[in-house]
Amino acid sequence: MPVKVTFWGVRGSIPCCSQEHTVYGGDTSCVEVNLDGETVIFDAGSGIRSLGISLAKRKINRMTLLISHTHWDHICGFPFFYPAFQENSNLNIYAARLPNGQTAEKVFDMLMSAPFFPLPMHMIPSVLHFHNFKTPDTFKLLDNRATLHTRYLEHPNAATGYRLDYQGKSISYISDYEHCFSEGINELIDFVKNSDLMIFDAMYTPQEYEFFKGWGHSTWLEAVRLTKAANIKKTALFHHAPIHTDDVMAKIEQMAQKEDERVFAAKENMSFIL
Ligand SMILES: [Zn+2]
Ligand SMILES: [Zn+2]
Repeated sequence: MPVKVTFWGVRGSIPCCSQEHTVYGGDTSCVEVNLDGETVIFDAGSGIRSLGISLAKRKINRMTLLISHTHWDHICGFPFFYPAFQENSNLNIYAARLPNGQTAEKVFDMLMSAPFFPLPMHMIPSVLHFHNFKTPDTFKLLDNRATLHTRYLEHPNAATGYRLDYQGKSISYISDYEHCFSEGINELIDFVKNSDLMIFDAMYTPQEYEFFKGWGHSTWLEAVRLTKAANIKKTALFHHAPIHTDDVMAKIEQMAQKEDERVFAAKENMSFIL
């Protein structure tokens, strides 16, 4: 059963457009998972704009969008997601409630309202169905063929980690997440255990992390540790810091692979079958 993964946006914080961001890419969080023709998308960062154009070309109009949290870098691409503006599109959007109980649906509504955006969300012609849940809710997707597990992640304003199980394959999406405040590291190990692919927030180097404790992100070294502890088959370093130019990213990837060759740095437009 083919499970295909494509990275459309791998950067954290803000899209970066420069000659020094061409190899690893400058668009923010967006990963497409194709499960035998069904489309599941992690996050709606700026990378979702290119994905939308690709989906339209492939005539795909039914999709499931999983939002990790509503920080800008994870939702800023949604108002530019072409399928959302097509009458025959059907989008199921899953997002956990914020710690104050507010829904992500409300945040999307604000994102697409004056004076931030000219077209209000209720004017969008596609069918949008929001699933406003609370972690650790679990869902059946794609006519019961896939199971979606959710988990609270330590991050300012909270984030949701996902694990998608489909026909014996598992993909874990852990972005954004800070390791040192997590008392539940053993629970996280159980959550991602034996994943075929783990996509992990590795925004900082261990040295940089010393200056950014409490900012809500992790390191490539934590990705390596978790890969070993949870027996992950392949780990993608993800949510790259804007200051990590292609040269810096190549060094980070080299250091990580020296520790564990299952770990690699995600690149925009990278695609593979699990
Ligand atoms: Zn982020
Ligand atoms: Zn965030």
